[in-house]
Amino acid sequence: MAKLARQRADLADVRRVGIPRALMYYRYGRMWQTFFSELGREVVIDRPSDRATLEIGDKLSVDECCLASKLFLGHVSALMDEGVDAVFVPSLMGYGRFETFCTKFQALPDLAKNAFAVAGKSVHVIALRIDEPRGTSEEDAFYELGVRFGVTRKEARHAYRAAAAAQRAYDAEMAREQESLVRVLSKLPAEKRPLTILVAAHPYVSHDPFVGGVVEDALRAQGACVLFADETDRARTLKKSYEFSHSIPWIVNRELIGSILTLHDRIDGIVLMSAYPCGPDSMCDDAIERCIHGKPILTLTVDAQAGTAGVETRVESFVDILSYQKKGGYLNA
Ligand code: SF4
Repeated sequence: MAKLARQRADLADVRRVGIPRALMYYRYGRMWQTFFSELGREVVIDRPSDRATLEIGDKLSVDECCLASKLFLGHVSALMDEGVDAVFVPSLMGYGRFETFCTKFQALPDLAKNAFAVAGKSVHVIALRIDEPRGTSEEDAFYELGVRFGVTRKEARHAYRAAAAAQRAYDAEMAREQESLVRVLSKLPAEKRPLTILVAAHPYVSHDPFVGGVVEDALRAQGACVLFADETDRARTLKKSYEFSHSIPWIVNRELIGSILTLHDRIDGIVLMSAYPCGPDSMCDDAIERCIHGKPILTLTVDAQAGTAGVETRVESFVDILSYQKKGGYLNA
């Protein structure tokens, strides 16, 4: 409290806040947008990823960066071109011992500042650190950030609560819609039920139109019904993931695994998608392929060089094989 009271309103002059349409924007975007709007700020979200976003991000990155973080830097660059006053780049450590984030998220504000500094540019980063295991809760982090924007602690609390409620409502709506789709599908006779494919990937991979959008379009073009692993009730999938492993530390990978287990009997196949080179996915996707049986899995890894070239062809072949199997395969040919 005393620390908060002393906190300077060093961000009071920031009127236009940029939020990169990348990484955890696809998980917490509603909350972030609502929070800054409640503080009376103009929120600017840059346009969806395309080849140019990746090329710019690639130039700003070292080779070891994953495709997703390269895209992130491309989005930060787009926001700077739009003339925002500052760019919001949270540092997400975790919500519990087995609910952590990949190290890239932990270091993201530094990564953004340094990548642009090396390129001779400067970016005003609004950082925020959430590290619940070490005592910095999400709530406290946002209160503190609000005070830095020059509002009272009460106003900051109001902004955070409205933001958290907006995100909860959005997540619940997504989960409700997918559950009702699964219910409708399960009532159809087998011969009328379309192939149902679960896309399991980090949300900024599956929902980025430049990356996962290609896969979704290819699946739908083949007549498949697409479910998303990150659109299943998160609390439920997180709990379910402990049936698979007690030691996986990453919350998003846990939820994806929990979702696969939850929907296993309702789907015909799984597309496991990853942005190269992803440390958490390399371990978890391998475990999924080895330990989840009974459903065909197509593993797709997208990198900065190849982009999405060839992805459509692999998706089409996967759907063709599943359709053929569904009709009885060679036994009925
Ligand atoms: S989880 Fe994987 S794809 Fe996501 S930021 Fe980390 S390394 Fe990149």
